[in-house]
Amino acid sequence: MKTVVVVGGSLAGIRAAEMILAKGFPGKCLIISREPEPAYERPPLSKQVITKGWEFDQVSLDVDNLESLEITRGKSAISLDVASKVVTLSDETKINYDGLIIATGCEPRLLSLPCYSQDNLPNRSNPSPALVSISQDLDNVLTLRTFGDAAKIRSRVAGNSKVVIIGAGFIGLELSSSLSQIGAKVTLIDPLDGLLQRTLGGYFSSYFEGLVRSNGIALQLGTTPTFFAIDSNRQVTGVATSSGEIFSCDLVIVAIGVIPSTAWLADSNVLLHPKDHGVVCNKYCQVMSKAGAPIENVFACGDVAWWHNELFDGPMRIEHFENAVSMGRCSGSNLVARPGDLASYTEIPFFWSDMFGKKIQYVGRSDEDSELEFIEGNLASDKFLAIYSNQGRITAAIGVGRPAKLMKIRTKIGEGASIDAIGTN
Ligand SMILES: Cc1cc2nc3c(=O)[nH]c(=O)nc-3n(C[C@H](O)[C@H](O)[C@H](O)COP(=O)(O)OP(=O)(O)OC[C@H]3O[C@@H](n4cnc5c(N)ncnc54)[C@H](O)[C@@H]3O)c2cc1C
Repeated sequence: MKTVVVVGGSLAGIRAAEMILAKGFPGKCLIISREPEPAYERPPLSKQVITKGWEFDQVSLDVDNLESLEITRGKSAISLDVASKVVTLSDETKINYDGLIIATGCEPRLLSLPCYSQDNLPNRSNPSPALVSISQDLDNVLTLRTFGDAAKIRSRVAGNSKVVIIGAGFIGLELSSSLSQIGAKVTLIDPLDGLLQRTLGGYFSSYFEGLVRSNGIALQLGTTPTFFAIDSNRQVTGVATSSGEIFSCDLVIVAIGVIPSTAWLADSNVLLHPKDHGVVCNKYCQVMSKAGAPIENVFACGDVAWWHNELFDGPMRIEHFENAVSMGRCSGSNLVARPGDLASYTEIPFFWSDMFGKKIQYVGRSDEDSELEFIEGNLASDKFLAIYSNQGRITAAIGVGRPAKLMKIRTKIGEGASIDAIGTN
């Protein structure tokens, strides 16, 4: 291989490129990066960038061997031809590759709602007022993925600003915490009845609800946004929900999850997952073709990629920092490995979140059949640690304020340890 192209110049792509160089690859390693800025870390965007006003240099990503990488910034890949090994960029440049890493991550899911004039809103006596538009490019409806997004949110929020956040996943919760810390009055809306049900199961919902409400957030669960009320300047002044209420606001943040950035692969031979259009890989992070065969010298990593995790005997796609690092390294290493020397990627999923003064960490994977046992504290304590097991085998753990112990449990999950092994060392 003479030329390796990495599409996506953020965490996973950079870690893949670093590994390719660290393995002694003698050729050219070219990174195509849609964002114009050098790579940076996203976790502080919902935290310190909002609460402490961190600037770009405080989030920038350290990159090994930066001088040996060729980075094209501010251009996107718009298509891929796997047969002729060509990536086409947004300026129509065609780039030939011998090896390819796909690391294009995810982008925010957008919300399309009808917009009505605030002076002519739908209600019982006026069920069908004139529709002004469908929400698109509204100046005070924002999402959060990039440093620019975070800086914009920060610049729009002054003390006492009324912010409605739609979506109470981790990003919505972290933003609620951060914005309330700088004085905003936050309303947080989610269609589910319990917080974080999808990620953690219902058991912890009441704990998080308590945390959110006791910090002054107006939490509206089990209700769905139905329309925006807008003024004559197309500023959203209220968010209506299925409960019949309208929550007034200066700013709306839509945090309803992300979708893999794979539009550029739509016409390629890359297999995209039917659920979300993520890139489908085998256990080595090698990208699969539509015919179901691994594509030679094409790997994927990070938020964009599904892979078969042998440790859990199933497919996964993970949207967390540590996975982008480890999967980036594994895909880079496998791309330059000799055939027969490919390593399976067997990550134990891990993430952390900081909100309302708590550090929450979760490792492993649980399901509705998992049993839960607290090994330190309980939901009423300031700190706690609980483990999930299936048929006596530890599969996951959740901790609040217990980082070191949680990491030990991560090792035990990897060893396939039984629940009796906890507390033995
Ligand atoms: C606000 C926020 C807070 C977070 N907090 C946490 C946290 O506390 N804990 C945690 O574990 N994780 C957290 N995460 C998740 C973590 O940051 C991501 O998992 C990680 O950034 C994924 O890295 P990635 O390189 O796979 O994807 P991304 O970071 O999405 O990078 C993909 C890059 O590819 C570029 N790209 C996309 N399409 C193209 C194209 N066609 N051509 C060229 N370039 C393209 C994108 O612009 C982007 O720069 C957070 C994420 C966000 C947004």
